Amino acid sequence: RQAKRRTAGVLCFVPEHDRSQVADLSLLGAMRDGMVRGELRLYLQPKLPLHGKRALSAEALLRWQHPTEGLIAPARFIPFAEQTGFITELTTWVIEAAAQACAQWKHLGFACPIAVNVSTRDLLDPAFAERVAACLRRHGVDSSQISLEITESALMEDPARALATLQQLAALGLELAIDDYGTGYSSLTYLKQLPVQTLKIDQSFIAQMASDSRDAAIVQSSLELAHQLGLLVVAEGVEDAATLQRLQAWGCDWAQGYHIAKPMPWEQLAPWWAKQPQGT
Ligand code: C2E
Ligand code: MG
Ligand code: MG
Ligand code: MG
Repeated sequence: RQAKRRTAGVLCFVPEHDRSQVADLSLLGAMRDGMVRGELRLYLQPKLPLHGKRALSAEALLRWQHPTEGLIAPARFIPFAEQTGFITELTTWVIEAAAQACAQWKHLGFACPIAVNVSTRDLLDPAFAERVAACLRRHGVDSSQISLEITESALMEDPARALATLQQLAALGLELAIDDYGTGYSSLTYLKQLPVQTLKIDQSFIAQMASDSRDAAIVQSSLELAHQLGLLVVAEGVEDAATLQRLQAWGCDWAQGYHIAKPMPWEQLAPWWAKQPQGT
């Protein structure tokens, strides 16, 4: 991908391989402006249980609807937001938007717990848990309706402080999940003491598991280990029926991926769900 530079505007996007140029303060200004102008969008991707009763939950995935660049994926601005600290404002925005969605759904008689991705900075912020609690109170949303996804790498920067934040969040009644499981370096010794309920197996293992026996072995053994630790498992990045069937046969608890649905603007989730056949 070619670098897209605009000298007149503030926006400066760079190719994936040149992260150093991303440290361009104009992007920080552009993100702030975009947020103020209301260009951030809450997208939701459904997660479905593979066993038992019909249920729905969703993951919040942030998008930036830029007036000239179009819909911008998080990979193009989240890393920079993390570097500059702007991620704190983005996370607050996403939690606020998710709580608003839950509150609006309540009026419609619809409910769907939303999982929000959090970053290292959030976990190291001693005020984070209280900010989340205040947001839920303000919108009259129960803590069971918002859960958080945390990557192993976000936990490893300062494990003791991260653990303290997770304990506060768990005490508030929020469910916690380890995201991108298998891609980080966290030890099981550390993971076992976390107040988490769920492991999300990274999509890099799910993508080829129907054709690559090594990926299949990793997925199966992760499932077994998680279940023995009393954790639920979500497979992310499920792109075809064969993969879904195999995961179901192996006892995976939940699935998420393009085969079920792509991330969609949050208002489309309830109509999408209404169209799903019973028993999915
Ligand atoms: P993630 O949390 O692991 O989210 C899963 C990513 O996989 C999403 O990409 C989703 O659209 C994509 N995906 C889902 N199903 C499939 C599939 O079947 N095939 C393939 N190829 N991809 C699939 P997205 O939305 O581009 O987000 C990328 C990453 O950006 C997320 O990975 C997460 O780490 C980060 N991110 C997104 N929104 C937020 C946010 O609000 N806050 C923070 N801190 N990070 C976010
Ligand atoms: Mg996630
Ligand atoms: Mg993930
Ligand atoms: Mg991932």
